[in-house]
Amino acid sequence: MSEWKGLIPHPKSVFLRVRCPDCGNEQIVFSHATSIVHCNICGATLTEPSGGKAIIKGEIVAVLK
Ligand SMILES: [Zn+2]
Repeated sequence: MSEWKGLIPHPKSVFLRVRCPDCGNEQIVFSHATSIVHCNICGATLTEPSGGKAIIKGEIVAVLK
């Protein structure tokens, strides 16, 4: 994941498995994503950036460390 190099000021950053509230698709998202993440299936917004930590719109079903 070299694209994240230098972009992780928070040591607690993790990857989350989030279930889309609209279609139920489960997708891996970064807990501190700095851009909006859309569902790969229906395009619903799954996370929005908010001052460093992403707002998770869907249901978090797992935390990947
Ligand atoms: Zn969806």
